[in-house]
Amino acid sequence: MAHIAIVGGGIGGLPTAYELRHLLPREHKITLISDRSKFTFIPSLPWVAFDMTPLENVQLEIEPLLKWRGIDWVDGRVTHLDPEAKTLVAGDRTLNYDYLVIATGASLNTDAVPGLGPDKGYTHSVCNPHHAEMAREAWLEFEANPGPLVVGAVPGASCMGPAYEFALLADHVLRKRGLRDRVPITFVSPEPYAGHLGIGGMANSGKLVTQLFEMKQIDWIENAAVTEITPDEICLADGRRLPFKYSMLLPPFLGAKFLRDVPGLTDAKGFVPVKPTYRHPDFPSIYSLGIAIQLAPPEKTPVPLGVPKTGQMTESMGMAVAHNIARDLGVIQSDPVKPTLEAICMADFGDTGIIFIAQPVLPELESGTRRRAIAKRGIWVSWIKTAFERFFMAKMQNGLGIPWFEKLGLGMLGIRLVEPLSEAERLEEMTHGSGSGSRPSGSRVGVARESVQNP
Ligand SMILES: Cc1cc2nc3c(=O)[nH]c(=O)nc-3n(C[C@H](O)[C@H](O)[C@H](O)COP(=O)(O)OP(=O)(O)OC[C@H]3O[C@@H](n4cnc5c(N)ncnc54)[C@H](O)[C@@H]3O)c2cc1C
Repeated sequence: MAHIAIVGGGIGGLPTAYELRHLLPREHKITLISDRSKFTFIPSLPWVAFDMTPLENVQLEIEPLLKWRGIDWVDGRVTHLDPEAKTLVAGDRTLNYDYLVIATGASLNTDAVPGLGPDKGYTHSVCNPHHAEMAREAWLEFEANPGPLVVGAVPGASCMGPAYEFALLADHVLRKRGLRDRVPITFVSPEPYAGHLGIGGMANSGKLVTQLFEMKQIDWIENAAVTEITPDEICLADGRRLPFKYSMLLPPFLGAKFLRDVPGLTDAKGFVPVKPTYRHPDFPSIYSLGIAIQLAPPEKTPVPLGVPKTGQMTESMGMAVAHNIARDLGVIQSDPVKPTLEAICMADFGDTGIIFIAQPVLPELESGTRRRAIAKRGIWVSWIKTAFERFFMAKMQNGLGIPWFEKLGLGMLGIRLVEPLSEAERLEEMTHGSGSGSRPSGSRVGVARESVQNP
């Protein structure tokens, strides 16, 4: 019998627990550990901030979901990990594991810029449920006493989609309330051009985004390096100072503290390196997925920018990890797989939205291109995003990872979730340690193209 411990009950951890339970016979024990008793569908948090949906609508209590499904539950923050002894400490409990799956998402580096909030500063964030609630309360006060709005991200941020959603949803909400003429909106971004999204070359995304900004009278500043935030101004490295009454700036992400504390487990930011099967190069009993993993940017940008790790990428990583653990345990006999990192991502702007399809999300290592990159705009994107939120919540409620009909639907769109390893990747799996070239499928390690082109 093996014990598989999964840390993190979010978009990566919960579906992976379900998939493992689906694959493994009951003699193998699965434990999900999370520091929040509720699962949150994070992509809906911008809606929570605008009071468009209550937080409870996008949350599920985890314990009852696991009770009848043969998955043990530990409600606690993991504070210590010993990968040699294969133990971890969660709250007042010490757990032994045979396999550990790290799905701890993002820890927010709000110390990156003085004055970055919301806990110790002046700006808001929508990156976790608590911050989204704080952003909502402040937004309601802002509507009563409006003024300049600054939205965007600070250097090193990696998930630009929610910043675009926030700026354009703000425009939509303010117009509905008749307040838009009292709120100048400025978008500040570390991206080399609006719509770069940390990955570049996403078809016509730059054009679609800037057209929308022009249409909605939103000013934007590219290559913006926010250096300091005072109670009423955002200061940029080029000396500009932007007054604000309300601001939502995304912080850079780090790996969880307990991971950063383990020598040799993570990179300097706390992200976990993985081999093609998403196993750690030096600790074979540890697999990782989602925002917790290390993924190098595809190109060097003038202002530092991270790579987005989207929900669908995370789910496909979870499917690959579950498959590979079941294979390690001899439960399934097929070859190891890796996630394709092909993704659909939708951004809702209230009266319109943009859908991005990237295959793969990061350009191919050899050619620097993608097989397919599509960006399309329309009100139907908002409808699909709303429907997808309901679908995802229903999946989690019913104990489904990625059900067959979802795989079928994605397949009809030409999107695969996992694929077999190449011969080179098989060899890499057999070598111990990270060496110089260990990387997950499709990523570029230390290979950053020098120039950034605005398509
Ligand atoms: C505002 C926002 C909007 C987004 N919108 C989209 C979108 O529209 N489409 C899309 O595809 N992607 C979107 N993303 C990205 C998507 O949310 C992530 O890809 C996804 O949440 C990653 O899953 P995860 O499991 O790695 O992290 P999470 O879903 O954040 O889960 C991590 C879990 O680990 C727990 N945890 C952390 N540390 C510990 C610890 N020490 N001990 C125990 N538990 C711990 C956390 O409490 C949390 O429950 C968005 C992200 C943000 C921030």
